[in-house]
Amino acid sequence: MTDITTHLFINGELRRAKSGKVIAQVNPATEEIFCEVQSAGAPELEGSIEGAQHAFTESWRDLKPGRRAEILFQIARLIRDNTEKLAQLESRNIGKPISDARDEVQLGARVFEYYAGAISRFYGQTIPVARGGLDITLRQPMGVVAAIVPWNFPFPIACWKAAPALAAGNCVVLKPASQSPLTAIMLGVIAHQAGLPAGALQIIPGAGSEIGDALVQHPSIRKISFTGSTAIGARIMALAAPELKRLSLELGGKSPNIVFADCDLDQAASSSPMSVFANTGQDCCARSRIFVEQPIFDTFVDKFVAATRGLRMGDPARDDTQLGPLVSKSQRESVEEFLSSTAGTITGGKRPSFKGYFLQPAVVTNVEPAERIWREEVFGPVVCIRPFDDEKEMLAEVNASPYGLSGSLWTNDLKRALRVARQVESGVLSINSHSSVHVEAPFGGFKQSGLGRDLGMSAMEGYTELKNIYFGE
Ligand code: NAD
Repeated sequence: MTDITTHLFINGELRRAKSGKVIAQVNPATEEIFCEVQSAGAPELEGSIEGAQHAFTESWRDLKPGRRAEILFQIARLIRDNTEKLAQLESRNIGKPISDARDEVQLGARVFEYYAGAISRFYGQTIPVARGGLDITLRQPMGVVAAIVPWNFPFPIACWKAAPALAAGNCVVLKPASQSPLTAIMLGVIAHQAGLPAGALQIIPGAGSEIGDALVQHPSIRKISFTGSTAIGARIMALAAPELKRLSLELGGKSPNIVFADCDLDQAASSSPMSVFANTGQDCCARSRIFVEQPIFDTFVDKFVAATRGLRMGDPARDDTQLGPLVSKSQRESVEEFLSSTAGTITGGKRPSFKGYFLQPAVVTNVEPAERIWREEVFGPVVCIRPFDDEKEMLAEVNASPYGLSGSLWTNDLKRALRVARQVESGVLSINSHSSVHVEAPFGGFKQSGLGRDLGMSAMEGYTELKNIYFGE
């Protein structure tokens, strides 16, 4: 691959960093550096925020809704036209299986289409107030939004922050993760080609530890939309507090998969491995704690392990690969440390003989609830499975986690499904399914999994201030 865009994208131009600093990009499937990306420093941060502020007041905020929608639709079109290139970049940058990468590019396009259509359906209210007159609400853009994106789903998460923020009339300074900036840079270029004014979407790769704090604290940044770890989310919340900056935080998870004895056992067991091992387990929604009702526990584990053995791990560039490598050497080591910490029974979890940061998926049974592998987010291909007898006790353990992002529930008893679904403390829950993300529906967590919501109309509301206007009679 020769034509990789490796520059910062600021005010409609590809730029080099003044410092000359670069971030090496490693292909985790080969362990080799394949390109170097410019790393933003203080001057680029300042320039990008200033340019975004200018684009906000001078062009984007006041553009007619119809034109704004046309531009977002055109971005979606260009994303679709560039599917293969974007997918190849993502796959090489983080080791994502190419078929998943293609699906995620389509998801990104779909997000732009949804918010392009949403612009003309983003209604306010008319409120019959007691004293008469006319009371209406307006949803107004905030200004410049900082979008901070993690490395595990770089392209779709960049899209699902940029699209609703732009649709609502804001401008965006987007910081991709250092490990995975390539598709975000290309998104900036595509959006500009589609007619987005220069400065409305700035892409500034750089280390969070170097420019993150300054980005979050900059006085012109009105909202921070962050997806990443709970630790950094908490830090950002503290940094945002003095100026009461608006925040949405999509953070870590330790999601449950609850399997009752009356479920369709074959379907639950055959689909559950990919609910935790997809993206090599590097998924905030990974169903990494499985609770199985005692009468079917042994059968479920046998079927789950058999289905896991059938997953194809290997070269992410192959169409039939389901499991790629972990994103980095250190990520694999961190997962191995979790595995060595448990006294449970581990099936799998070994390095294969070929090169790359691969690790076989690991199934851990006989694990105790006090163990860190059961309690903490591993962010790798590891699942723990425990039996349960009593619904109430199981729910207490499900909710003992500080996280509350996602989860699944398998049962054919409708009343039980509703009863249990109401009690699980999570922002997203699927019944007889493992899907978590729908472009049209709110996505986000309870407790330490975050606050605010991505996707759906909730996300667009989250990029606005609500104004009440009263007309006297
Ligand atoms: P991370 O928190 O290390 O980094 C996320 C982003 O924050 C990166 O762009 C990073 O450069 C930046 N960053 C780091 N320090 C910063 C600082 N001081 N100020 C501002 N930005 C800073 O997370 P990660 O390792 O990239 O991603 C994995 C984590 O993300 C996991 O915990 C996972 O569960 C979570 N995640 C959550 C969701 C969700 O929607 N809830 C989705 C994907 C990933």
